[in-house]
Amino acid sequence: MAYRDEKLSEEKVFKDPVHRYIHVRDRVIWDLIGTKEFQRLRRIRQLGTTFFTFHGAEHSRFNHSLGVYEIVRRIVDDVFRDRPEWNQDERLLSLCAALLHDLGHGPFSHSFEKVFHLDHEEFTQAIILGNTEINRVLSKVSPDFPKKVTEVIAKTYANKQVISLISSQIDADRMDYLQRDAFYTGVSYGHFDMERILRVMRPREDQVVMKHSGMHAVEDYIMSRYQMYWQVYFHPVTRSAEVILTKILHRAKALYERNYEFKFKPIHFYSIFSGEVTLEDYLQLDESVIMFYFQTWQNEDDPILSDLCKRFMNRNLFKYVEFNPSNEQMMKLMELTTLFKKAGLDPEYYLVVDSSSDLPYDFYRPGEEEERLPIHLLMPNGEIRELSRESDIVDAVSGKRRTDHKLYYPQDFLFDWSTKRNTKKKIIELLQLDR
Ligand code: ZN
Repeated sequence: MAYRDEKLSEEKVFKDPVHRYIHVRDRVIWDLIGTKEFQRLRRIRQLGTTFFTFHGAEHSRFNHSLGVYEIVRRIVDDVFRDRPEWNQDERLLSLCAALLHDLGHGPFSHSFEKVFHLDHEEFTQAIILGNTEINRVLSKVSPDFPKKVTEVIAKTYANKQVISLISSQIDADRMDYLQRDAFYTGVSYGHFDMERILRVMRPREDQVVMKHSGMHAVEDYIMSRYQMYWQVYFHPVTRSAEVILTKILHRAKALYERNYEFKFKPIHFYSIFSGEVTLEDYLQLDESVIMFYFQTWQNEDDPILSDLCKRFMNRNLFKYVEFNPSNEQMMKLMELTTLFKKAGLDPEYYLVVDSSSDLPYDFYRPGEEEERLPIHLLMPNGEIRELSRESDIVDAVSGKRRTDHKLYYPQDFLFDWSTKRNTKKKIIELLQLDR
C-alpha cells in the first residue's frame, strides 16, 4: 500500500480538553507528530505572555496544532466526504497543512518577530522544505508533496477550498484557538457552537460556504472572536509583559553590538543578533531556552538588562495610561522623554507606546494590503450571499477597525528612585495625560 494511504493498525487518540478526543488513523500524520520539529511546539506557548494575566494560559502550540488538525479531519471525513464538489484526493494535504500551519513559530513569536524582523511563515516553509524530519516524512508521500503543503499554508495553492479550510475568516485555525484560548484562560467569551458550524459547511467551486440555516452560529463565532480580542489577546497587562520582553531582546542585542562582556554569553542568540539566523539555530530556540537566559541575565552588570529581566521573571510589570497620538499628547510624550532622561531613566526602555488593533470581520475589498476572504452564505434558493448583507449583527462590526494605544512606564521607579523631587512631580503630573 502506498505510504499516503497507510493506516495505523489501531487508531491513536489524544485526550483533549477542547475537542474531547483527537483521532489519528493515518500513518503520515502519526509520523509527522513524532518529528522533533513538531515536538518542539510543546515548548512554545500558544499565547506568549498571556499567562501573566490569565495564569491558566500555559497551553502550547502543540495542543493548538493538534486541535486544528482534528477540526479539519472532522470536516473532510464527516461533512465533505461524499460531496461531489469536494475532491477527496485533497484530504491528506488538508490534514497535513492543518497540522503544520504554525510549525515555524518561535518562542514568544510576536515580540521576536518585531525585534529581529523575522517571519514565522518563512520558517514554516523552511522547515517543511529543508533538511528536516518533517520534510523526510512528507517527501515519502510524493516528491512534490512538501511543496504543496507550503502552498496551502501560504494561500497560493490552486484549490481554494483547501485554503479556506485553514485560512479564511472562519477557518479551523480560528475555531480552534478561540475555543482553546477561552478554555485555558477560563473566560466566558470565546464559546460558540462549532458542531453546528461544521455541520452547515459546504464545499463550493472555489471556497467553503455556510448554509443559511447556520447563520446564527456564525454570528456567535464572530462576536466571540471580537470579545476574545479585547478581553484576552489585547489585555493591557499581557501587553505590559510583552513590552518588557521586547525591551529585554532589544537591550541584549544592543549590548552585543557594542561588545559588552556578558557574564553569561548568549550563544543561542549570536546568529539572530547578527541577522543571519540559520534554520538549525532557529530550531534550537524555544521558550525554555529564552527563560533560562532571562533568569541568568538578572545578574548581569548592565543595570537595564538586569532590571528588565527581574521584572519579567518576578512579574513586576510596567503600569500604563491611555494614550492617543494627538498633537497635544505627543507634545506631552516629548516632555516626558526629556524628564525621564533627567531622572536617569532611559526612555528608550522605560517609556513605551504600544498599539493594538483588530478588525472583527471584513467583506471583500480587492486590492487592500491583505485581501480577506469573506464568509458566504448558501441561501435556500442556491444563491450565494456575503454574510454582512444578511446579518445585521455582522454588518454592525464589519470593516470597523478598533485601535487602542497605551503608554507604559515603571511606576515603582517614580516612587522609589532618588531623583530630584521636582522632576518626579512633573512626571507624575504629565502622566495624567488627559488632564
Ligand atoms: Zn494557528
